[in-house]
Amino acid sequence: MRISVIGTGYLGATHAACMAELGFEVLGVDIDLAKIEALANGVLPFHEPGLPELLRKHVASGRLRFTTSFEEAGVWADVHFIGVGTPQRAGKHAADLTFVDAAVRSLAESITKDALIVGKSTVPVGTARRLRELIDRHADGARRIGLAWNPEFLREGFAVRDTLSPDRLVFGVDSTEDEELLRAVYADALAADTPLIVTDFETAELVKVAANAFLATKISFINAFSEITEMVGGDIRTLADAIGYDARIGRRFLNAGVGFGGGCLPKDIRALQARASELGLDRTMRFLSEVDLINLRRRDRVVHLAETMLGPLLGKKVAVLGVAFKPDSDDVRDSPALDIAVRLFNSGADVAVYDPEGNANAAKRFPRLGYVDSLEAAVTDADLVLLLTEWNEFRQLTPADMMPLTEGRKIIDGRNVLDPAEWEHAGWDFAALGKRFVP
Ligand code: NAD
Repeated sequence: MRISVIGTGYLGATHAACMAELGFEVLGVDIDLAKIEALANGVLPFHEPGLPELLRKHVASGRLRFTTSFEEAGVWADVHFIGVGTPQRAGKHAADLTFVDAAVRSLAESITKDALIVGKSTVPVGTARRLRELIDRHADGARRIGLAWNPEFLREGFAVRDTLSPDRLVFGVDSTEDEELLRAVYADALAADTPLIVTDFETAELVKVAANAFLATKISFINAFSEITEMVGGDIRTLADAIGYDARIGRRFLNAGVGFGGGCLPKDIRALQARASELGLDRTMRFLSEVDLINLRRRDRVVHLAETMLGPLLGKKVAVLGVAFKPDSDDVRDSPALDIAVRLFNSGADVAVYDPEGNANAAKRFPRLGYVDSLEAAVTDADLVLLLTEWNEFRQLTPADMMPLTEGRKIIDGRNVLDPAEWEHAGWDFAALGKRFVP
């Protein structure tokens, strides 16, 4: 079986390399020529642990190739995965489906043999059924082109592991023939007893957005309690531990901090609200607008704390540790850390940003921030240090590491990974999200 993967970003490049690792011949397709050239040379254009090795291995073996030609994919592959972007529409909450539509249409026009198109992108409910009609309109009718929806749950930073050993597989299908083909693609994971849910298009689409809405809600839930503990005192981490012991709740995704970001959760909860409204269900997902607002207020809180600790920000040197939206990723899409850095810069602060992997992407979006290539360079002479992405390098920070470098001795732990007592004992002004701060 030959596989094409349309869209070779975080999802698609990972999926393509992992499919090659499973033994398939794979063709990655993208409209971005620079990306395709890099990948074809075995160079991964983004950071993802373990993926560069897989890419190089399978480009070298010839099992993994890349092209910008849909015609080549349409003639060659039996199964076509769609992993193109579904970003937030400019100025709207809804998802922009133009990339998905364009990719599916190009494929339908290019396919010259019986084939299966498998959507992996995160889409609003109803998309697959609409695409089914679009395929029928644009295909020549002489071939059988199946359609399935197989949402992707990988986490950046763990993308290879999550793709090779998913915690569940969801197949949204409308024929047993398509289901059988997908079972063959995922034979290894199924042999390893990965739970499989075979369902209709609508459920498959909704599983993905429901999972992301739940995760976002869980994060904002604990962050809402942060607003209370910041006011009355109390320890947000202890609160999370204590409720997390209840197996019905669970401790994961209850880490109080600057909140969620990235290319998925923010746009997915907004797209879900927009889709519900389109369906006439304006109230149904309205709680997600509160989830979004709680999340965004965390950024205000950090800026407010910085102003409380420093007074007017003009000319103050602020070290920002972390701009990626999460550790082990270079993704700065909708990153709370980057947003906070920009807001401090716009208030006149002299911002020095250091992220082990995210600086280059952040610099493309906001070239005017000061980017430095080491933690030492960022914190040297800083009036205030902000820890905003919990890279391991930052989790292990101690006051002793910083003392010789920074006079300011003021720090905000935006991820609740440092020990407040240790820093306060060493004479630092220590603030954290969810912690009452008394100047
Ligand atoms: P991305 O922006 O990194 O990659 C998208 C790629 O699609 C780009 O390389 C772009 O050039 C390409 N593309 C756009 N239009 C195309 C077309 N017509 N033909 C071929 N290629 C085209 O995005 P991503 O993070 O990989 O996300 C892709 C989808 O996967 C989104 O729907 C996202 O919500 C979903 N998803 C992402 C993750 C994640 O962790 N990144 C996890 C699960 C699901």
